Amino acid sequence: MTTTEQDAIVIGGGIAGTAAALALRAAGRTPVIYEAGRPGDAERGVFLTIAVNGVNALRALGADPAVVLARGFATPRLALRGASGRLLAETPLGGPLPDGTVTTTIRRADLYAALRSEAGTRGVEIVYGHPLTTARTAAHGVTAEFAGGRTVTGNLLVGADGLHSRTRTALDPSAPAPHFLGLLDTGGFTDGPVCPALLPPSGVMQMSFGRRAFFGWAAAPDGRVWWFANPSRRRPAEPGEFTPGAWRSHLLELFDGEPGADLIRATGEVLGPWNTRDLPRVPVWRGDRIVLIGDAAHAVAPSSGQGASMALEDAVVLGHSLREHRDVPAALAAYEAARRARVEKVVAHGRRTSGTKVLGPVGAAMRDAMMPLVMRMLHRRGDPQAWIFEHRVPVLPSVPR
Ligand SMILES: Cc1cc2nc3c(=O)[nH]c(=O)nc-3n(C[C@H](O)[C@H](O)[C@H](O)COP(=O)(O)OP(=O)(O)OC[C@H]3O[C@@H](n4cnc5c(N)ncnc54)[C@H](O)[C@@H]3O)c2cc1C
Repeated sequence: MTTTEQDAIVIGGGIAGTAAALALRAAGRTPVIYEAGRPGDAERGVFLTIAVNGVNALRALGADPAVVLARGFATPRLALRGASGRLLAETPLGGPLPDGTVTTTIRRADLYAALRSEAGTRGVEIVYGHPLTTARTAAHGVTAEFAGGRTVTGNLLVGADGLHSRTRTALDPSAPAPHFLGLLDTGGFTDGPVCPALLPPSGVMQMSFGRRAFFGWAAAPDGRVWWFANPSRRRPAEPGEFTPGAWRSHLLELFDGEPGADLIRATGEVLGPWNTRDLPRVPVWRGDRIVLIGDAAHAVAPSSGQGASMALEDAVVLGHSLREHRDVPAALAAYEAARRARVEKVVAHGRRTSGTKVLGPVGAAMRDAMMPLVMRMLHRRGDPQAWIFEHRVPVLPSVPR
């Protein structure tokens, strides 16, 4: 068994972990990321949307959104359609930042790769193939144990190991488990540019309450369409439950006669399905030297479009807290005090949104009839989601590269 000493140990090299490493560098720390997976494993998931509040957090970390999000494209608006395809509402996904940057959609793998590259340019080491098994606090530090027997000690451990976090259960063995939201997630990218009839307007994420399942799609600058679908489901799907062929046939049946079916036919490889889950409330976010961030602390329903943005905001706030408080326990307390109320409000909002995705025929008819009216009323006094999109975490001082 080998033991290594570090200053700050970051568990997980996803969005929260890489962003936390950038923030820790800005706070004068020397983080090392321990990631369970191997480089290039990040293909899970299709694409995600970084809302303007998350884009602002990237900038606050000293990362240039034009570089990190270079492989994405602008999606500043959302069009909601009913089962018949009728437009129910079109709403902004937050206004532009002062530099003109807007909400951006990017492949998950591209975002992970760009953040890891950014961390690399700031001198952050990423150690792959290291799944954390447990962590514990000692008198003046923390010890992390990894599969295979390696042990690492440090002054601080940031648990950014996602939805099924081992850090979370190490902190609190009775921590709640993720909650299945009753929806599966699947998606893909059309093999090439699609015919103009299928191409939605650029910059507008389309979402449709289809007759049998929810469908979302957007036009990439190269004329391909990126899409996702959320079939409803009583219990979580088991690994390997669907063969790729059976899953495709099921989707084609669900979206028969809707734009989704044509887009699925234009896609060689359909990705997923994955179970969608959230984490309503995690009572323990921190010990004296261990802290949770990102999905490990507060997974948001995917339909909120805020999970990645929350992870980025967390990282910035953690960086500020560590700069302001030399004492680590005090810094972690300040981080939790600054973040808990906001993220729990976003989690609750995401769960409500997930619940409206698939309704019975009567509920769907009422929703389609009422939504245009309700949306007009809600927007009369400004954007009702401004509290999400207009949140701005303050900029961290930059770190010499
Ligand atoms: C289908 C789907 C669609 C989504 N769409 C959106 C969207 O449009 N917009 C949005 O903002 N968010 C979206 N989200 C949510 C978003 O992906 C997450 O909130 C975000 O990835 C959280 O980042 P994270 O770093 O906390 O977790 P992750 O990105 O999951 O990263 C966790 C990392 O920890 C590693 N890890 C896990 N266990 C261990 C261990 N024991 N030891 C070491 N490393 C470990 C993992 O390999 C992974 O690299 C979506 C999520 C899903 C599932």
